[in-house]
Amino acid sequence: MAKEKACKGCKLIYTGDSCPHCAKKDISDNFKGKVEIVHPEKSVLAKELKVDKKGLYAIKL
Ligand SMILES: [Zn+2]
Repeated sequence: MAKEKACKGCKLIYTGDSCPHCAKKDISDNFKGKVEIVHPEKSVLAKELKVDKKGLYAIKL
């Protein structure tokens, strides 16, 4: 299984080569906590994380 990493730009957790959201390769692999954002437009947490797309995000990098 590929190692999960979190994008430093948008906090998305992914396993590929570069972030599928912002194409950055600036990553952190010791992030803390995960949260799935399903309705970014309604989620208080999404606002706090400055997230506007759904997906799995790291809470702390
Ligand atoms: Zn990103």
